[in-house]
Amino acid sequence: MKEFLILMQHHFDAVKEKIIFYISSVNLFYKHGSDDDFLGMVVTFETKDYDLDLDEREEKYKDYVRLCEKCNEKFAHVCCDNCYEKEIDEEERNRMLYGKFKECNRFNTNHNWCNECNAKRFQQDFSNWTSENEFIDKFIQETQLDKLNTENRNVLEWIPYDRLKNLEYLVKGGFSTVYKAIWLDGCIEKWSKHEKKWIRNNPDGTVALKSLDNSSNLSEDFLNEV
Ligand SMILES: [Zn+2]
Ligand SMILES: [Zn+2]
Repeated sequence: MKEFLILMQHHFDAVKEKIIFYISSVNLFYKHGSDDDFLGMVVTFETKDYDLDLDEREEKYKDYVRLCEKCNEKFAHVCCDNCYEKEIDEEERNRMLYGKFKECNRFNTNHNWCNECNAKRFQQDFSNWTSENEFIDKFIQETQLDKLNTENRNVLEWIPYDRLKNLEYLVKGGFSTVYKAIWLDGCIEKWSKHEKKWIRNNPDGTVALKSLDNSSNLSEDFLNEV
C-alpha cells in the first residue's frame, strides 16, 4: 500500500466546483435581482482590457456593472456573453475568457493557466520527484505534459507520503482499496511569478486515495480506472 498512492482529486473538485458555482449564482441574484435589473454604477469595459487576467479585471471593475465597449450590452461576468457567443476565433475566445499570461504574453487557456508554460514547468521538475515505479512516473509525466488535459486543479502529481495525514480506510474495490486523507498542500491553482512557486488551493483538504492491493497488478487498467 505504501508503494502506490495516487491522488484522486477530480471527484472532490467536481463537488467543490458545483458549490462555488451555486454560491456565485446566488450572490449575483442577491446583488442584481435579475440580469436586466443591475444595481450599481455602469462603466464601459474596454475591449483592450480582455488582455487583463481575471484577477486584474476584478480589481479594475469590481464595483461596477460592465458595459461592453463593442456591443453596448451590460454584463456582470468576466466577459460580454453577447460578443463571446459571436466570436469564432479560438485565440480571441481564450483572450476574452482568461486574458493574457504575463510571463509569455500568450493568452491563457484557463483561469490563471497557460498550458504551454506550465507543461514546461512540470517538465523541469521531473528530476525532483519519483514514485520509484517507472510506469507510474511515466504516466504522471505524460498527463502533466498533455496540453489538452492539463488545467488548474486537475493536474495529476505524485504526492510524497509525508504530505498526507489522517489516513482512513473507506472502501474496498476490485483490486484496490480506497482511503481518505488530509492532503497538507492542496491542489495546484496557478503559478506565482513573484514567489516562483505553485499557489495551491484548499490546503489541508480531504482527498480520496486509491491503493493497489498487490503491486504486481499495476497496469494500464488500474491507471484507466484512476
Ligand atoms: Zn459585447
Ligand atoms: Zn505561457
